[in-house]
Amino acid sequence: MATTLKFDLLPEVADFLSKGPLEGIVGGQAVASSKGETFTTVDPGSGEVLAEVHAMQADDVDRAVQAAARAFTSTKWARLSPNDRGAMLHRLADEVERRKPIIAQIESLDCGKVYAQAAGDVQNFIDTMRYFVEMSLHVEPRTTLAVPRHEAWTARRPWGPCAFVFPWNFPFLLAGWGISPALAAGNTVVIKPAEDTPLSTIYLGRLAKEVGIPDGVINVVPGFGETTGAALASHPGLKRMSFTGSPEVGRLVATACGANLVPVKLELGGKGAAVVFNDVDIDDTATKLAQAITFHTGQVCCDATRWLIHESIYPEMVNACTEKLRRVVVGHELDAGTQMGPVVSEKQRKRVLGYLERGLAEGAEVVLEGGPAEVSGRNGFYVKPALLAGSLNNVAAREEIFGPVAYLTSFRDEDQAVAMVNDTDYGLANSVWTTDPARASRVAEAMVAGNSWINAHNLFPHGVPYGGVNKSGMGGGVLSVDTLMDYYRSTSVVRPL
Ligand code: NAD
Repeated sequence: MATTLKFDLLPEVADFLSKGPLEGIVGGQAVASSKGETFTTVDPGSGEVLAEVHAMQADDVDRAVQAAARAFTSTKWARLSPNDRGAMLHRLADEVERRKPIIAQIESLDCGKVYAQAAGDVQNFIDTMRYFVEMSLHVEPRTTLAVPRHEAWTARRPWGPCAFVFPWNFPFLLAGWGISPALAAGNTVVIKPAEDTPLSTIYLGRLAKEVGIPDGVINVVPGFGETTGAALASHPGLKRMSFTGSPEVGRLVATACGANLVPVKLELGGKGAAVVFNDVDIDDTATKLAQAITFHTGQVCCDATRWLIHESIYPEMVNACTEKLRRVVVGHELDAGTQMGPVVSEKQRKRVLGYLERGLAEGAEVVLEGGPAEVSGRNGFYVKPALLAGSLNNVAAREEIFGPVAYLTSFRDEDQAVAMVNDTDYGLANSVWTTDPARASRVAEAMVAGNSWINAHNLFPHGVPYGGVNKSGMGGGVLSVDTLMDYYRSTSVVRPL
C-alpha cells in the first residue's frame, strides 16, 4: 500500500513503506501471513495509514520458532567464538548507526514519537548491542569449582530459541534491550512487535539478513496479541520468554509459559512516584518533572505519575509545574519545535481522557485541565498535559494511565511520604528529590520498587539492572550483567579423582 503522507520522507523510508503489505521475517525469508490476513499501521500524528503489514498466524509463528531452533543447532551461531559472533553483531550495530536517520524516521512516524527522541532510541539500541557484545567477550565459558577429591566445573551454554513480545511505546529501544544479551550469548530469537508499531522491528529483521546474520537467528512475527502473541507465548519449542507490556497480558503470557515450563521474564507497567522535599530548587525540579511526564507523551512505564510534595512548598511547586506544563508545545512528531507528540492511537487517547473524567468523578481537583489538543492541519491523536490533585484514593492516582497526566498530593514528613509511595500494587520506579544525601539514600532504599532514582527520573545507564517487582514484573530485569548471564544455561561437570 502506498502511503499518502505529506511529509518529507527520506527516500529509503518512502521506499520501505511503499512495498507493503510488509511481511514477517522467518528463517531469513520475507513471509506472508498463511491466511493472507493483513492490518494497517498509522501515523498517530496525522491518523494517516503508513503501511499495511502481514498478520502472522499460529502456523507462521510455529515456523518461526522452528527456524530459530534450526538456526541454533545447524548454523554455527551458537558455537561461534564470542569474538566472531560479536563481530557480526557489531556489524549490525554499525549498520543501524549508518541508517540512524532512516530508522529514526520510521520509528518517529509509527509511534508518534518526537523525532529527536526516536533518534535517541535508535542510538540506545546501538549502545545496548555494543555493551552486551563487549561484555560477552569476558564471560568465562567454564568456572572451575574447588571441591575436595573431585575435578569439577560449570560450563555455560546458550539456551536455544528465545521469544520476545514487545509493547508499542519503545519498539526499537526495547528490541535492543531484549535481544542483544540473548544474541551475544549465542541464542536465536523470535520477536513479536506490537500491532500498533511493527515497522522498525520488521526493518531490523531485514537489516540482519543484509549484514550477514545467519538465516533464522533473528525472526520477526508481526501480528495481533490474541493470535500471534498468544501462539508465541504458548509455543513449547521456546527455551525462554521475555514479555514487556501490561500486567494483564503479562499474566496470560506467564500462564501460557508456565504450562510448558518455559522460564519467563516480565517487564510490566508502573505507577511511579516522585517525592519532593522542601530543600529542592523548585524551578529546576518542576522543569525536570514536567519533562518526565511529557517525555513520549507520558507513555512511559516508569514515569513519575504521582508527585508527592512536601506541604511547606506545595503551593509554589504546584504553580511552577503548572506553568512549565502550560507552555509545552504539542505538535506532530516530525515538526520542528514540537515538544510533545500525539499518543499512539485513538484508543489510547480515549483511555487518557477517560481517566481524567473518572478521576474528577471520584473527587480529584483539576490543577491543569488536560483534554484533547488541536494541532493545526493534523488530524492526529493529541492530548494536553494535565495535573490532578487530592487524595491518592482515586482511580487516577492508583491505576496506570499511560499519558501526560500527573497526580499531586502533599506530605508532612518522610515516613508519611514513603508510606504513600508504597501504597500501590506496582513496583517499577520512583524518585526522591532533596539536597540531603543521607535522606536521599534512606528514602531511595525504603521505596518498594525495582528502581529508585535520586534528583532525576527515567535513568537507564547500561550496567544498572532495570526491572520491576510486585505487579511491575518478575524475572530479573534488563540492562545489566545479570541480564546477559540469564541467557546462558549452566551445566555442572564433575568426576571423582
Ligand atoms: P499490552 O500488554 O497490551 O501489549 C504488549 C504486547 O503483548 C503487544 O505486542 C501485544 O500484541 C501483545 N499481546 C496482547 N495480548 C497478548 C496475548 N494474549 N498473548 C501474548 N501477547 C499478547 O501492552 P501495551 O499496551 O502494548 O504497552 C503498554 C504497557 O507496557 C504498559 O503497561 C507499560 O507500562 C508497559 N511497559 C513496560 C515496560 C517495562 O520495561 N517495564 C516498558 C514499556 C512498556
